[in-house]
Amino acid sequence: MTSSPRTFADLTTIRVGGAPRELHEATTPEQLVETSLDVWASNEPWLLLGGGSNTIVADEGFDGTVILISTRGISETSTSYIVPEGCAASGPDAPTSHAGSIIIRVQAGEPWDAVVSFAVTHGLAGIEALSGIPGSTGATPVQNIGAYGQEVADVIVSVEFLDYLTGEVESIPAAELGFAYRDSIFKRGRLGVVLSVDFALTPSWRSDAVSDATALSLPIAYPQLADALGVAVGDRAELSRVREAVLALRASKGMLLDPSDTDTIGVGSFFVNPIVTESFARTLPADAPRYPVAAPIAQRVTPLDGSSPMLFPGLEGPALVKLSAAWLIEAAGVKKGFGVPGSGAAISSKHTLAITNRGGATSDDIAGLAHYVQALVQSHFGLILRPEPNLIGLEI
Ligand SMILES: Cc1cc2nc3c(=O)[nH]c(=O)nc-3n(C[C@H](O)[C@H](O)[C@H](O)COP(=O)(O)OP(=O)(O)OC[C@H]3O[C@@H](n4cnc5c(N)ncnc54)[C@H](O)[C@@H]3O)c2cc1C
Repeated sequence: MTSSPRTFADLTTIRVGGAPRELHEATTPEQLVETSLDVWASNEPWLLLGGGSNTIVADEGFDGTVILISTRGISETSTSYIVPEGCAASGPDAPTSHAGSIIIRVQAGEPWDAVVSFAVTHGLAGIEALSGIPGSTGATPVQNIGAYGQEVADVIVSVEFLDYLTGEVESIPAAELGFAYRDSIFKRGRLGVVLSVDFALTPSWRSDAVSDATALSLPIAYPQLADALGVAVGDRAELSRVREAVLALRASKGMLLDPSDTDTIGVGSFFVNPIVTESFARTLPADAPRYPVAAPIAQRVTPLDGSSPMLFPGLEGPALVKLSAAWLIEAAGVKKGFGVPGSGAAISSKHTLAITNRGGATSDDIAGLAHYVQALVQSHFGLILRPEPNLIGLEI
């Protein structure tokens, strides 16, 4: 192993954090397996890192080994198939819900947006609304990335996984990944490495388009995106137009990485939208946005007394609604662009939900602003916002 001159300020998109004690970069799947097993055998603390766009590390750094995942590759799987709509899918792993899809296998370190670009270019629908999300493909199932009406859980067939406990590689089907809103078994303690991910995408002919150039998206599910495209919710649009519209929307909100735009120097949304009981939601002002949550899936509920979120593991429970964390923050009095004097951290000037590094911020600056936002929201509305990123050596 080699000691690392690289700090987390270099390795993460929020650009804070000291150095790891050691860093190993894996560029092939074999190296990734071998390195992980070696590091685990040492019994030292370890941390997986892809694009570093959902990770914040303390200024002291990390007293352990970082496994930096830089594997690459997009391919059709050996079980890939094209089945006309209406016909039964064939192939050992072909789930009926993905009948007629094309399965692509993507190595964990492949940048996610390259996968979206590949799909759009090849006339494959299903992930176009996830354009412009930074980071690696292996991290996409970890928090079930989502945006503009699509979630990666909708298209994941399975992941190839190196299990920390057994040291074995196994294929885990999507149904066993415990997907929920920004959640999966990987966020709930299943330790190991996602080596590759299989996605089922819808080929253009299934969307009634005649060629890749005019391939159509899945039905547009998000009103703001439908408006931008000039179509109704539920309509389809050309894949390339959807991708361009999403990228433009994201850029207007500072949600598209751009080194020249300090509003993008962060981790995207800093807090997850709270999921609360319907009865609690009724205590909020009438104009607070509320979105019904589809049950039954594992859901975290933030109790009123501020104790740790509880988990309802897919059982019949109270009706749940998702709130808008951005609305709660603004309604609590935090404005876009707000920063504590003397701190290098500030709320994005384009989006209340993003905490950004304006240049020279420390991880304490980031955590301090996050605590301030949490405290205001708690005192106004009685709930504690839960941070979205993976925190190393920091408490928020
Ligand atoms: C500007 C901006 C906009 C964003 N917009 C969105 C958005 O719209 N929607 C959304 O959902 N997210 C968004 N994000 C968050 C982030 O991009 C995603 O969560 C992304 O999937 C993180 O990928 P990464 O490779 O950078 O993860 P990292 O930060 O490297 O890792 C995140 C977590 O996953 C673990 N991990 C990484 N790779 C693996 C692997 N192969 N196997 C197992 N565990 C692994 C890490 O240990 C860590 O716990 C945004 C971030 C930024 C900076």
